[in-house]
Amino acid sequence: MVVIEKNLTLDPEPATTPCVPAGRPPSHSFDTLALHAGTHADPTTGAMLTPIYQTTTYRQTAVGQDSGFTYSRSANPTVSALERRLAALEGAEFCTCYGTGLAATTALCLALLRAGDRVVVSQAVYGGTVRLFRQVLRKFQVEAEFVDTSEEAVLADALRKPARFVFIETPANPTLQLTDISIAARLAKESDALLVVDNTLLTPALQSPFDLGADAVLHSTTKFIEGHNATVGGALITGDADLHECFLFARNAIGAIQSPFPAWLTLQGVKTLPLRMARHAENALRVATWLEAHHRVTKVIYPGLKSFPQFELAQSQQKNGGAMIAFEVAGGVEAGIKLMNSVRLCALAENLGACETLINHTASMTHADVPPEQRHAAGITDGLIRLSVGLEDPLDLIRDLDQALAATSIHNSREQD
Ligand code: PLP
Repeated sequence: MVVIEKNLTLDPEPATTPCVPAGRPPSHSFDTLALHAGTHADPTTGAMLTPIYQTTTYRQTAVGQDSGFTYSRSANPTVSALERRLAALEGAEFCTCYGTGLAATTALCLALLRAGDRVVVSQAVYGGTVRLFRQVLRKFQVEAEFVDTSEEAVLADALRKPARFVFIETPANPTLQLTDISIAARLAKESDALLVVDNTLLTPALQSPFDLGADAVLHSTTKFIEGHNATVGGALITGDADLHECFLFARNAIGAIQSPFPAWLTLQGVKTLPLRMARHAENALRVATWLEAHHRVTKVIYPGLKSFPQFELAQSQQKNGGAMIAFEVAGGVEAGIKLMNSVRLCALAENLGACETLINHTASMTHADVPPEQRHAAGITDGLIRLSVGLEDPLDLIRDLDQALAATSIHNSREQD
């Protein structure tokens, strides 16, 4: 049983009472919740936006009597407003927000794991997640087994030995491989493990892991949730009060809470999440279809394309194909690098999930710390290019990629000279 510090009780009575309670009430649609859940106009001034509570500390009325807030490492009203909004969007009761997505993963692990514990993790996940398990948690005798969670038999086999939790990312960054969440939930339950789903790439606008049996959902809010390349942040969401208490305790103990200003920016960004995700996906399908027909493109991976190996699962598990495309060009790594150095509108950058289109060479950038054997086993080839399709006019994106692909052909013919 995890002991919670006294001053950690969070926000049953927040400074700003939510007009829409946490959880997804049937009377409000997702679009409405994205705008209203968890906040209301300031009772003293009528300010529409939840203020940025830039304060460390909160005056208490008497010993043991406080407003639910005592010290901003434990809780902050602006952060709590974001937590209520994100919990409502995922359709769960509880949420804790963190300084980064990886801080959320770290809190998850420190909350749930002890030396000697074992976890099962999708083979294809964000590189920083691999680094955390391989290079940090291993030092504390936590064993992470990376397996192909898209294969039921492989996951079932990995769960023959006890595991504290199964951690999946679907679609996976960057290969976009899917894991069937309901199968993973069933297998995890049968072996007494929890199922944690990193829902960063689709967000609750496009995928609802709790409806499929997840115990906790993790987000890098840095990506689509905030969506404007303006903040880093993370979130852990759950419907289980005991799990939530464990997350609260870990967050306070390690000091990983999000600051109020990024939380406030995220509260504004998330208002347009449903609109952005629909447009991201529309653009991505246009770009992926165009790439697939281009003679210099040798492979296109996009869950919305019929050629996607798990197209049926994508159709049933996700609302659409999402914003991410992975592709390879003729001429291998060199041509890929030439392409990325030739784009003008797309930005060569580490992040994903922003309004602006971002392009990235996975093996040398986001997944550089993943051992080459694991990269290759996960399908991350050395030439793989990751495209996070933004909200620009898709024709402008296509024009930019077209001129950049033409540059790879010049490169290739020079090489043959
Ligand atoms: N999860 C996924 C799927 C990611 O892509 C990332 C970062 O790229 C993270 C988690 C970690 O988030 P952050 O960069 O906010 O720490």
